[in-house]
Amino acid sequence: MTQFDYMREVPVNSAGGTEDRSVYLTFDDGPNPFSTPQILDVLAEHRVPATFFVIGAYAKEQPELIRRIVAEGHEVANHTMTHPDLSTCGLHEVEREIIEANKAILSACPEAAVRHIRAPYGAWTEDVLSKSASAGLEAVQWSSDPRDWSRPGVDAIVDAVLSTARPGAIVLLHDGCPPDEVGLSGLRDQTLLALSRIIPALHSHGFRIRALPSITEQTRAHVSA
Ligand SMILES: [Zn+2]
Repeated sequence: MTQFDYMREVPVNSAGGTEDRSVYLTFDDGPNPFSTPQILDVLAEHRVPATFFVIGAYAKEQPELIRRIVAEGHEVANHTMTHPDLSTCGLHEVEREIIEANKAILSACPEAAVRHIRAPYGAWTEDVLSKSASAGLEAVQWSSDPRDWSRPGVDAIVDAVLSTARPGAIVLLHDGCPPDEVGLSGLRDQTLLALSRIIPALHSHGFRIRALPSITEQTRAHVSA
């Protein structure tokens, strides 16, 4: 059994004796012309960074949103071209889904530094990991999943994030819907309202919301520390 090499949490750097209370916000399945600008407004209001795992086909349709995400200091990351379950795809299709999404992001915004990838549904396989690595992308899962996409209610989303928040936590939220779910799950109004409560609550619990680091950079920092 192979150990899948993806990041669920960011390794905590406790060098210097001070506890690193960083947490990381990520948004999947956008960009969405309705929800993404609202999410960006909330992030801007609180001056916190996030990583947006975008669907390449949407990036193509909404290039100005990709540019806005980057211009406002957030990371745009790869969530494949069409959001298939990659564990059911052949090697060629896996490769095409990853490469095409990178191209769509970069043609929308050549300045975008795409460093991370998240497999749709968290469905990693060795093929997905190896094709991601050869595209220069680091695989990122999550550790805090409030299932905001299922619209469990704003309180439930806030409570789920706060109860799973700990140093290094990677929080999974959604600013859009996969192509086959559009119209089913509606807009991300609960996510938006929850976000505007989650950020100040995390701050008041002593957490710092930071940009997702590169694992390689993180390792290098550890080695040189
Ligand atoms: Zn997704």
